[in-house]
This record gives sequence, C-alpha cells and structure tokens, in this order.
Amino acid sequence: MLAALRDKATLSVAEYMELALSHPEYGYYMTRDPLGAAGDFTTSPEISQIFGELCGARIADQWQRAPSPEALLLELGPGRGTLMNDALRATKHIPGFHAAINVSLCEISPVLTGIQRATLANTHPRIQWRKQLLPLPPQPLFFIANEFFDALPIRQFIGTQERMVHHDNGTLWFVPETGDIRETCEPGMHIMTALATHIAQHGGAGLVIDYGYTGGSRGDTLQAMRNHAYANPLHEPGQADLTAHVDFDALMEVAHHCGTQVSLCTQEQFLRQCGAELRAGALCRNATEAQAATIRSALERLMSPAQMGELFNVMMVTP
Ligand code: SAH
Repeated sequence: MLAALRDKATLSVAEYMELALSHPEYGYYMTRDPLGAAGDFTTSPEISQIFGELCGARIADQWQRAPSPEALLLELGPGRGTLMNDALRATKHIPGFHAAINVSLCEISPVLTGIQRATLANTHPRIQWRKQLLPLPPQPLFFIANEFFDALPIRQFIGTQERMVHHDNGTLWFVPETGDIRETCEPGMHIMTALATHIAQHGGAGLVIDYGYTGGSRGDTLQAMRNHAYANPLHEPGQADLTAHVDFDALMEVAHHCGTQVSLCTQEQFLRQCGAELRAGALCRNATEAQAATIRSALERLMSPAQMGELFNVMMVTP
C-alpha cells in the first residue's frame, strides 16, 4: 500500500481514504471479505435476517402504493448479499413485485461481488452488477444503502485549512494534527443528488441506514476498525476498514433540494414500526429454545439504544 502513496507526499483525507479503501491492488474492500466474526466488523443484516426482511418489506410497501410494471431495485454496497437475499425472500409473496423489478447491485469490490453472486444465485431471474451508480434506467427506483455512505471519502477542515495526510518513509501523520474539525463528504452528496433527482422524476423510494448525526459537526469522526476493535486510521493503510459518521442533515438537505420528501428516525424506531418484534415472535415459534434465545438477542443488539438502536439512523426518501 505504501507504494501507492509514493507518488504524492501529501494527500487530502479524502484521497487517503479513497486509496486505502478502493485502490485496485491494495484497497481494503478490493482484497478481502471484511464482514463477520472472522473479519473486521459486523453489520445489521449479518446479525439478523429480520433486518433485510424488513428493509425489503418496507421498500415493497412503497412499490405497492404506486405499482409500476417495471422498477429498479438497487442496493448500494451490498456486502455479502445477505440483506438482498433476505429482502427478496421476504417479498416473494407480494403480487407482481418480483415480476416488476430488475435487481441491481452497485459494488466496487471484486471479492464481495463474487460472494454476492453465490449468495443470490437462484433468488431472482434478473440481477445485474454495476461498479458505478449512473446511468440509471428511466423507471421508478427503489434503493437500499446500509453502511454504504459511511465508507465514502470525507474531507476534513480546520477553519479554512484542509487537514492533510503527510507521509515519509512509511510514517504517516495528520497536518494539522488536531483542532476544531469539520467534515464534508462530496461523493455522498453527489450520489444522494443522483438518487433523489431520479426518484423525484420517475418515482420510487429509498432507505439510507447508517451511523451518523444531525444537528451540526461532531468534529473528527474518521475511524478505523480492525478485528472488531478501533485502530489508528493511519496505521497500515489498506488493512483496516475506514469510515466516517454520516452527516444526515447534509444528506437530507440535498435530497429535499432535489424535490423528494425525506424523513429520519432511529434504527430502533424503524424496526419497531416495521414489526420487528412480531417477526421475531413468528421465527421463535418454529425454533428451539436455544435458537429463540439467539433470535431475541440479535434483535436486542439491533434495537437497543445502548447498542445499535440509536447510533444508527434510517433516512427514508420518497417522491
Ligand atoms: N451493506 C453491507 C456492507 C457494508 S460494507 C452490509 O450491511 O453488510 C460497505 C460496502 O460498500 C462493501 O460492500 C463495499 O465493498 C462497498 N463499497 C464501498 N465503497 C463503494 C463505492 N464507492 N461504490 C460501490 N460500493 C462501495
């Protein structure tokens, strides 16, 4: 990875993140499956099937309000394909939905694309992969993005000065080191602009689920995760997951500006409204006592305010 840095003595935080995550040879996502117990972090769809099932049901519910004969069901950053697999299974019985949709997975990682292909084999007759979001077909767009926006490169500013990453001889450091940090995520703004503009024009709906904040800057949110623990973001670039908290005010503002309606709630509220407890009850009825305990503790992890319930927000975009 350090070889990839050699061309430039100084990088913006965004350039550094981009290289560390998506460099074709050394990039973190490009070279491994980062998810699960053997990886570096675990996401909601990997914790419980209920998560993907309810995301699918919520999106299909939006489709049913204005059923269109053709629509695109798009997932951004689909990981192992677990969420889409659960979403497709949960929506199979909805009359006309599977016949109407083309499924598209926007993914840059060749490793994860391979895993998604295996996971999703025989789930739907029309699944395609794309590395870039655009172009989108002129039909209603239903999208889901779980822990996708947090992986997009951010820039950091202290006052009007951009915070940079310097490196020399394998040592990396920030300049300035500290200060009152403000963050922007240009790629996130562009992607939301494209998604919301499309939904305003052609219809559809979207779900953005991520850890993030509202109400103004939270300072430095750049973080590295390795083996399920926080790591130094500058240590061994390409070997740890790098993320930044999502500025939901900024995302909601662009989506609103593009002519869509937006709403925001916590993950706990979202799962409760979608009937997570009922679904867990139904799963438990056909489970052994040990399985039922696992189902309940997984749901607790997703919904409890002390765990993922409040740290994660759900933003819904509708026409
Ligand atoms: N949504 C999944 C995975 C989250 S990890 C889950 O919840 O389990 C982030 C995902 O986004 C990975 O699949 C990663 O390869 C993908 N990704 C990161 N940057 C991307 C980009 N610029 N374009 C498309 N996919 C990207």
